[in-house]
Amino acid sequence: MSTASPRCATCPIPWGERACHHVGGRGPENCPLLTCPELIPGALEELQNVDILKMAQQSSIQEAQGYTDRDLGYARVRPLKPRILETLEFARRMGYQRLGLVFCVGLRREARLVAQFLENQGLEIVSVVCKVGRVPKTILGLTEADHIIPGTVETMCNPILQAKIVNAGQTQFNIALGLCVGHDSLFFKFAQAPTTVLAVKDRLLGHNPLAAVYNLESYYRYLKSPLP
Ligand code: SF4
Repeated sequence: MSTASPRCATCPIPWGERACHHVGGRGPENCPLLTCPELIPGALEELQNVDILKMAQQSSIQEAQGYTDRDLGYARVRPLKPRILETLEFARRMGYQRLGLVFCVGLRREARLVAQFLENQGLEIVSVVCKVGRVPKTILGLTEADHIIPGTVETMCNPILQAKIVNAGQTQFNIALGLCVGHDSLFFKFAQAPTTVLAVKDRLLGHNPLAAVYNLESYYRYLKSPLP
């Protein structure tokens, strides 16, 4: 692999002319198609695992089935399903019966609704709240000054325990709902079953972090300046 880091996110080539769009397309010098072509067959080799292949196939089918009017072409195709329905459909496609639902206590109302929805559809749900374990934050080497409300005893979020509980519950697939930045990463690291995300936490923006991105040219323009 070349030392030039891929920067697909800021690729200067128009989408329809890109190397990743069609054979014969173009890429910049640091295009990963050019700088690490040896990784492509390696990634495809992983599909020889039948479980991985099934997940890749069903993900792709789910993607296509998320649209209607597909026969009318790219300009007229329309999205069809909310993510929560796609999550159910994907679980069914994969034959999963037993799902983990790991959620933030701040989204306990939503978690109840999501669990009820999935159970009503015939799935078994193992749900675990972030504060499970009731371990005080001080065990992390923090002081009470680091608490949300300084001077009080606070229970830490425990994504490692959330993972261990759903692992012990032998879930086949997990859904993360509103876990904090970093806590979600720890859950992904320790969970044995594959995990999807129904929603991420954004305390300020109603769990829609892209609202800040969509407003970068207006109310969130300060994010474009170097931040302390
Ligand atoms: S794969 Fe290459 S052409 Fe495609 S977005 Fe990345 S840099 Fe651009």
